[in-house]
Amino acid sequence: MTALFPFDNSYARLPDRFFGRVAPTAVEAPRLVRLNRALAVDLGLDPDRLESPEGVEVLAGRRVPEGAEPLAAAYAGHQFGQFVPQLGDGRAILLGEVVGRDGRRRDIQLKGSGPTPFSRRGDGRAALGPVLREYLVSEAMHALGIPTTRALAAVTTGERVVRETVLPGAVLTRVASSHIRVGSFQFFAARGDVEGLRALADHAIARHDPEAARADNPYRALLGGVIRRQAALVARWLTVGFIHGVMNTDNMSIAGETIDYGPCAFLDTYDPATAFSSIDRHGRYAYGNQPRIALWNLTRLAEALLPLLSEDETQAVAEAEAALAGFAAQFEAAYHGGLNRKLGLATMRDGDPALAGDLLKTMAENEADFTLTFRRLGEAAPGPDGEADPAAVEAVRSLFIDPTAYDRWAEGWRRRLSEEPGDAEAKRQMMRTANPAFIPRNHRVEAMIEAAVERQDFAPFETLLTVLARPYDDQPDFASYAEAPEGGGRGYRTFCGT
Ligand code: AMP
Ligand code: MG
Repeated sequence: MTALFPFDNSYARLPDRFFGRVAPTAVEAPRLVRLNRALAVDLGLDPDRLESPEGVEVLAGRRVPEGAEPLAAAYAGHQFGQFVPQLGDGRAILLGEVVGRDGRRRDIQLKGSGPTPFSRRGDGRAALGPVLREYLVSEAMHALGIPTTRALAAVTTGERVVRETVLPGAVLTRVASSHIRVGSFQFFAARGDVEGLRALADHAIARHDPEAARADNPYRALLGGVIRRQAALVARWLTVGFIHGVMNTDNMSIAGETIDYGPCAFLDTYDPATAFSSIDRHGRYAYGNQPRIALWNLTRLAEALLPLLSEDETQAVAEAEAALAGFAAQFEAAYHGGLNRKLGLATMRDGDPALAGDLLKTMAENEADFTLTFRRLGEAAPGPDGEADPAAVEAVRSLFIDPTAYDRWAEGWRRRLSEEPGDAEAKRQMMRTANPAFIPRNHRVEAMIEAAVERQDFAPFETLLTVLARPYDDQPDFASYAEAPEGGGRGYRTFCGT
């Protein structure tokens, strides 16, 4: 019989000090909550076999599959600005890598599968609620078109985990282009281990920036690639109202994927100062701070890479600064391009960032819902006859405390839209594909978790997954899932879920 996973491992070939070899801990009574069958097929796996008792045992960490070389990776990181020289996979175990049907190499990792050499005082476990949240939100991000780690499966373990209360345990199978983080480089840099740093950088280049190998300065090219991907990623987050919540350097992927869905949440009412995470007391990781924090983290990466950028220290610093200087322009281009598409504008003119900025400011002053405003804007755009549907216009303006504030802004928007080449329907179509109707609304996510944890009712999880798989389509049967919570979702709190 062929192997369940056709593993082709590369990280496990790196030197021993990169990780601790450790097998998952066997659990009591694994039960499959959900297998992502479509993703399994993309990865070249057999979904039926993964759903069989043998497959579920593997997904729960009860059985190590053939070809796996389970390991917990070492990494460091800045947590809320404080450097911790050793963190590492405390509750995640990399089984190995597979090369999918698309030729892309991806990590298969179990999260919540027991203690590792990096668990410190933690139990290495995950509770069901955070596992379902990560499954749902990461798959929603994927459907929104935003680079992210994926969820292959969620299983319950039949065991209890002790947090503030006693909760059902679960394991998530996470799929990622890699789990190399900014903090992975910091781990070696902090130890003055330049050979380790170089081996990691060469590995990262082979996986994520193969063309950098041919550049004059491959490590400078790697840094440039990470900066480019991160600038694009954070811009995408902002255009859908996503707040990561814990952008520590150990939670920033070199591959440019959204990773670590602990305290993340989406904006309801637009307020750039929104920070939902209970431990983010000073709003370090607030919605509007994310570009600044991304650059801060990338600066830590550049510092870690200095020994590789040049043998001459002054030259190395100059290379790092030049690479970091690219971030602002890349982010601005991606962000304003994204905002323009949300406004129905395919081209970019000088006044456009101010036009979008005025709308955001008006939304903040008038406590408008971020997602609903943009979605309804598409319906309120003038049709082929140059006239807007009055009911659709009313649907947007009613989202503003003072609807006339919207009217004042919309006058300039309609003028700009009329000067934009292309027909009205094409502009509206672009807006439909830039402005999702459905995001993982916090109140829905909470209700889904409560049903699963308190009542073993997974129907809301399944329904939400179905709705969020098509975020840009009108789904009249699920119209209520597009609605904002009462009170605009203020006061919502998230927790790291450790
Ligand atoms: P996070 O903020 O979730 O990215 O986690 C920060 C660090 O804490 C990482 O090194 C995790 O592996 C570790 N960690 C989080 N939860 C646990 C747990 N329950 N057991 C062991 N380690 C954990
Ligand atoms: Mg983490």
